[in-house]
Amino acid sequence: MTRRMTPLELMTKLISFPTVSRDTNLPLVDWVEGYLNDHGISAHRYYHPEEPKAALYAHVGPEVEGAIVLSGHTDVVPVDGQPWDTDPFVVTEKDGKYFGRGTCDMKGFDALALWALVEAHYARVKTPLQLALSFDEEIGCLGAPPMIKAMQGVVPKGGPVIVGEPSMMKAVTGHKGGQGFDTHVVGFEVHSSLLPQGVSAILEGAKIIDFANQRNAENMAAEPSTLAAMFDPPFTTWHVGQVHGGTAHNITAKDCHFAMDFRAVPGDDLVALKEGYLAHVAEIEKGMKAIHPETRVEIETRFDVPPLKPEEDGEAEGLARAITGDNGTHVVSYGTEAGQFQAAGYSAVVCGPGDIAQAHQPNEFITVAQFEAGHAFMRDLVARLA
Ligand SMILES: [Zn+2]
Repeated sequence: MTRRMTPLELMTKLISFPTVSRDTNLPLVDWVEGYLNDHGISAHRYYHPEEPKAALYAHVGPEVEGAIVLSGHTDVVPVDGQPWDTDPFVVTEKDGKYFGRGTCDMKGFDALALWALVEAHYARVKTPLQLALSFDEEIGCLGAPPMIKAMQGVVPKGGPVIVGEPSMMKAVTGHKGGQGFDTHVVGFEVHSSLLPQGVSAILEGAKIIDFANQRNAENMAAEPSTLAAMFDPPFTTWHVGQVHGGTAHNITAKDCHFAMDFRAVPGDDLVALKEGYLAHVAEIEKGMKAIHPETRVEIETRFDVPPLKPEEDGEAEGLARAITGDNGTHVVSYGTEAGQFQAAGYSAVVCGPGDIAQAHQPNEFITVAQFEAGHAFMRDLVARLA
């Protein structure tokens, strides 16, 4: 019989695959599938339609609905330009911490979930357990929705979902959602001394960008809803993180590119927020076209992540609280795949080892204590399912 690896051995193995989002994750998926197969567990894949990437999911226990779903992502953020003291793809233990890219976000949890799946299999659990490992989470939570769709009908519908993003093992029941829009303003070039005859993509872009200032001021001044009041800040924020445009100081810019994003509190209508932005853009575009009909604004949605709304007596929340003993109220302002599972009809909670403060950092780590806490969580979970 194949030896069962410890959570630390599993994490070490998973981190040895440099699955930065822009690169393939197939070697990792191959290895995980092989490991599960060695233990008599079959796994399923959902392939990215164009890139060499796959999500992997598996089910153990009776073939019935209501499995606990352990959800993680396989991709990690790049290490380029970061000053690491150790090899980011080799787990190194020092001062009570495991260093390595993904220890915290979130191959530590992936390893624990993989461990739990194999244990649950051998324990012949009465309630089934599922593992769901996505790709492309770090570039806008793009991989989970098609994976969730692919799971339907292939494995029995799961029940409560635990998304193991680093939360210090607290039960996080709400997070903001968001959308991002790549915006390309196409102007008309003239010498800037002839300004009225041209259309400066930068000056028009500035009017579009000012939408963020207007909305932020409005939202900040408004009375937050009870739901929104749980968040910091307690309102939807709009932001532009990058702008590129223009060729010379004396030419009205032909092009201006920027990324307009919002982070929405649960309860705000994401569709209405997007439509508000598009209406503002249309208004500006009208003025541009009046000068030069060929000028325009092109918009592409870069990401679209639904918020996680705190559930009334949520099943996932109840399970996480029962195991961790955590009864506090926790919401976060970053997006996760939990909102996507919830949008697909699952009960979902975020609960995983490690501190989000260490995610994406050089010398990313998870403390040995947090990793152990995650292990204890999985032991308890498997015992409950048995
Ligand atoms: Zn993550």
